[in-house]
Amino acid sequence: MSLSLEGKVAVITGGASGVGLGIAHEFAAAGASVVITDLEQQALDAAAAAVGPTCTGIVADVTRLADMQAVYRQVEERYGRLDAVVANAGIGAHAPLDAITEEQFDRTFDVNGKGVLFTVQPALALLPPGGTVVVIGSTASIRPPRGMSLYGGSKAAVRAFVRAWIQDIKGSGVRMNILSPGAVDTDSLRSALAMAQGADQVDAAVRTMGEGNPTGRIADPREMGRAAVFLSSDASSFVTGVELFADGGMAQV
Ligand code: NAD
Repeated sequence: MSLSLEGKVAVITGGASGVGLGIAHEFAAAGASVVITDLEQQALDAAAAAVGPTCTGIVADVTRLADMQAVYRQVEERYGRLDAVVANAGIGAHAPLDAITEEQFDRTFDVNGKGVLFTVQPALALLPPGGTVVVIGSTASIRPPRGMSLYGGSKAAVRAFVRAWIQDIKGSGVRMNILSPGAVDTDSLRSALAMAQGADQVDAAVRTMGEGNPTGRIADPREMGRAAVFLSSDASSFVTGVELFADGGMAQV
């Protein structure tokens, strides 16, 4: 069994922070050359420096097809190949039914739905047999929390995308899977908690979230990275179309 990504080239969207950065660390540790994309060069430079010399950053907005086409052009020029794509960039805002705005709907589905589609579609021409796509979903695809219908709906949408896409690409040898985290201890989770409950309550709120999980804690971003390495490596060679919940069991009980 090989969990190595030695010699492989990977693109990870939204890789400058949080889950995407955790994935970039683990892909680099598994031997991959990693291209992270995100909205700002400065954040990308800091993230790439933290990951190491096999990681570089390219500014690209996943909601713009032309940006993603440019990313893959640069990857082809620089490395001559592409083996793995992780469609990780995503957003989620608290929006109860009676308060959802048109702007919130458009923004959520633009980034989480259209962004995933136009991360994957222009990569297809480069991905060889054995190539992989991992779409970062969420437990919200099956258990959307109160006030998170837009987010949960967008994550259920990409779960359905992948079910259809593995049929569309039949014969290509490319595998596609969803990796769905539960709560992950990221800066964005902590700032959302600070806004909702006050900065001095964040550690307690993270502990409480953990206590509600069968494992007794929430995840570290690098644990999502290791699950993504599995789905992108030959160790999962007959795994395609699944939604792998890396949630500590939270949505399974
Ligand atoms: P995050 O905000 O820390 O990271 C998301 C990154 O995506 C940011 O760096 C952001 O700049 C980037 N991004 C946002 N819009 C973009 C766009 N249009 N184009 C390119 N990049 C863009 O959030 P995170 O928690 O690391 O979330 C990453 C993924 O994990 C998302 O898909 C999210 O839904 C999923 N997820 C996170 C959690 C959690 O608890 N943190 C739980 C379940 C699922």
